[in-house]
Formats: sequence, structure tokens, C-alpha cells
Amino acid sequence: MPKALCIGELLIDFVSTTPDVTLAEAPGFVKAPGGAPANVAVGLAKLGVDTGFIGKVGADAFGDFLREVLQQNGVDTAYLIAGETSRTTLAFVATRSDGMKDITFYRHPGADIQLTPDEIDIGYIQSAELFHYGSVSLSHSPSREATLHAIRSAKASGARLSYDPNLRLMLWDDAANAKRWIWEVMPYADVVKISDEEWEFVTGDADFEQGIERILGLGVKLLVVTLGERGCYYTNGFANGFVDGFTVDVVDTLGAGDAFVAAMLAQLRQYMDLTALEQKQLDPIMRYANAAGALATQKVGVIPSLPTPSEIESFL
Ligand code: ADP
Repeated sequence: MPKALCIGELLIDFVSTTPDVTLAEAPGFVKAPGGAPANVAVGLAKLGVDTGFIGKVGADAFGDFLREVLQQNGVDTAYLIAGETSRTTLAFVATRSDGMKDITFYRHPGADIQLTPDEIDIGYIQSAELFHYGSVSLSHSPSREATLHAIRSAKASGARLSYDPNLRLMLWDDAANAKRWIWEVMPYADVVKISDEEWEFVTGDADFEQGIERILGLGVKLLVVTLGERGCYYTNGFANGFVDGFTVDVVDTLGAGDAFVAAMLAQLRQYMDLTALEQKQLDPIMRYANAAGALATQKVGVIPSLPTPSEIESFL
């Protein structure tokens, strides 16, 4: 049984072969495995953490491909379900040099939404010490109920819960609903990672300090705001700080946040009490995670660019 589990979307990203174009301008696309929680699962496995992924693909060639990719990277796929009723979800992606992404999803519906609560195996969830989730699987039923059921089960069994809202507004019927569900699952999390681009939407009118207080006030033990090339800010309510990012020549920023999350979670495993961590412990963890994020920008596609421990160490 894996020690870490990630739940959520696993899909095909068709990534523009030409950099710095819009989707409309893109002349061609390469097939790449995608889905933030699945990226985190591969990231953890590459860092030596025994990890499984829970989700649904279609019983089709793309679903078979995704399962194979997870397996090749050492992720347990016992609870990656191949659904008969919908196709594997697709996304078309073009990344601009300023880091902005032009994305269109084919998910009307896609298989990832079709995961049901009764497909969640409680014994499997209970085996995990670490459980990671996002908000994309909350946008539609039944994967919303399946995700909630899994989150609550993981919480009840005493796992450490990690949450990256990973806002994808275009996948929601309306923005208010997205915000509602993003906050609904916040109180279960021990660790929350939000990117600066999402911060304003998630926290609304609140200033930075108020936003932090609101999130920590829900019982979140460690909050990290990633700042792209500028690195990250972290706080556990006791220690806090900005940790500078690394300057690199970017090939493709896709997946930097997922690499960051995986590296941070892998490092945090050595500590039981996140609220007791001091700056001298958290700074090097965030530096390590920044290195993983920077390395993830060095290759096209996410999964091939997720680093191993030796890649991170030699980079540092
Ligand atoms: P997301 O990918 O979720 O939008 P960010 O863009 O904030 O998140 O990136 C996550 C982390 O990856 C950053 O905190 C940083 O460590 C690293 N990173 C991202 N973009 C760059 C970049 N252009 N150069 C160096 N590091 C980067």
C-alpha cells in the first residue's frame, strides 16, 4: 500500500509545439500526460516516496497511455479506474513566454469527472500518511462527492493533507461556485500551496495579512504562496519568510507548481509537527522546492521535467 496518495484529474495535455503563440495560432500539438494531482504523484514517486493515484480515465488509448506513464514512473494505479461511459479528458495548451497559459478543455464530460464515491476504497485511503488534492475534481458531480469522501476519510484516518487549489475557472459553471468549493475543502488541509496568480481570486478583497489569517484560522498548519520566478512565501503562523527563486532560462513553466509541491511535501515528511517548524528548518525546504520548480521549467511537458533528488541536489 502506498504511503502517499493523490486524487483528482489525469488527462492529456496537447501542448503547442510552437512557443509563445495563442491556441488559435498554434500549428501543432504534442501529446503529454497532465493533471496537477497526477503530476504531484509522479513528482513524489520520482523523489522516492511510495505513491498512488486515485482518479478516472476513459477505457481508450489515451487512458491506457496515462496509466502506463504513471506506472513507468513508479506510481501505483490500483485505483486509477478506466470508465466505460466517457472518454479520457483532454486539454489543449499554449504557453506564452510571460508565463500566461492559453488552455481549452475537452471535458463535457470527461472521464475524470465520472469518479464516484463508491469507487473510493477506504482501506486504500487509510494506508496513506500523506494525501494530496486540488479543486478541479470538485467542479462537477460525481467526482466532487468522490473527492470529498476521500478527503474526509483521509482526515479521519490521521493522514497529513495537502491542498493546491489549482484554480481553473473555465472548468466551473460560475466563479462563485468555484470559490465556494475551493474554501469548502480548505479546513481539511494541513499544508496549502496557492500561487500568487490565484491568491486574489481565492482571498477576495482581503489584504495579504488578512488572507493569511483567514486560511491559518481554519486550522491550516503551513501556507505557501508561490511567486513564479521570484520563489515563494511561507508561514506556519510562527515562522515565516520569503525564499528567493532561481534564475533559469525557461523552456516551459507548465508544472513548476506541481514540482514545487512534490518536493516540499517530500521534505516535510521528516517532520511531525508543522506548526513547530522554525525558519531554519523551513527556509531550506522551500529552497529545495524552488529548485524543483525551477528544474521543471527546463524541459517541455511536465512529467519528463519533474526532478529526481540527485537532479535537485546537483542543481543546488
Ligand atoms: P504554478 O506553476 O502553480 O503557477 P508558480 O508559477 O508560482 O506556480 O511556480 C511554482 C514554483 O516554481 C515557484 O515558487 C518557483 O520556485 C518555481 N518557478 C516557477 N517559474 C519559475 C521561473 N520562471 N524561474 C525559476 N523558477 C520558477
